[in-house]
Amino acid sequence: MSNTDFALAVEDLTVSFDGFKAIDNLTLYVDKNELRVIIGPNGAGKTTLLDLICGKTRASGGSIKFMNTELTRMAEHKRVRLGIGRKFQTPSIYENLSVFQNLEVSYPTGRSVFGALTFKCTDEVKAKVQVVAEDIGLGDKLDTEAGLLSHGQKQWLEIGMLLMQEPELLMLDEPIAGMSSRERELTADLLKRICANRAVIVIEHDMEFVKQIAHKVTVMHQGKILAEGSMDQVQNDPKVIDVYLGH
Ligand code: ADP
Ligand code: MG
Repeated sequence: MSNTDFALAVEDLTVSFDGFKAIDNLTLYVDKNELRVIIGPNGAGKTTLLDLICGKTRASGGSIKFMNTELTRMAEHKRVRLGIGRKFQTPSIYENLSVFQNLEVSYPTGRSVFGALTFKCTDEVKAKVQVVAEDIGLGDKLDTEAGLLSHGQKQWLEIGMLLMQEPELLMLDEPIAGMSSRERELTADLLKRICANRAVIVIEHDMEFVKQIAHKVTVMHQGKILAEGSMDQVQNDPKVIDVYLGH
């Protein structure tokens, strides 16, 4: 397989914060339509890796290619336009807008909230909002104020806002934190549907959840990759048990 076949090719990536290497010469490849889960102890560098891919943090060295385009010097908003979507741990939705409006303002032609609110709501946008709302289980909540949604529903709404932009790489940092077990099940189903059209990277701690969704698991430790493979392979890897699963 050549590098051009991957959605994401991260090679020899390093970032130092005052001499401390939070990501240390890391190489990682993610296929198109793959759902990759990244696990590892706190401080392993998982969130920092997503920060580097989306452009929130600049790399000190190495390369990040998305669909064979070099990203390392590209501004964050340009990476979004290229098709990279990132969900942070706390949902950033507009609490005082309805579910419909939250999705509508996320439609790519609406560049800012201000612009998007005055943007004429075409049938095309409406149809897209409807499809996404149904996908995230909020099809009957379009008129509900987002602030009134449950914690889990807010998380789904934010995923929906990213889906409005049809990203080719979607990254989610601990998406099920604070969710009920039913919400976790529904989120697993949602993520499995989502990765049919795109690459998805999920950071997660809940091993039951990881088992349900992961195509492949990457275990990080001290800014490096400790192990990578199927859930079975990493779960039975003595190094992984030692630094992570054993605790
Ligand atoms: P994880 O998500 O795996 O828990 P993080 O990526 O958040 O780990 O953090 C990895 C390490 O990098 C931690 O030691 C953290 O304190 C450090 N770190 C992360 N971001 C910064 C930053 N902007 N400045 C300095 N240190 C940072
Ligand atoms: Mg983290």
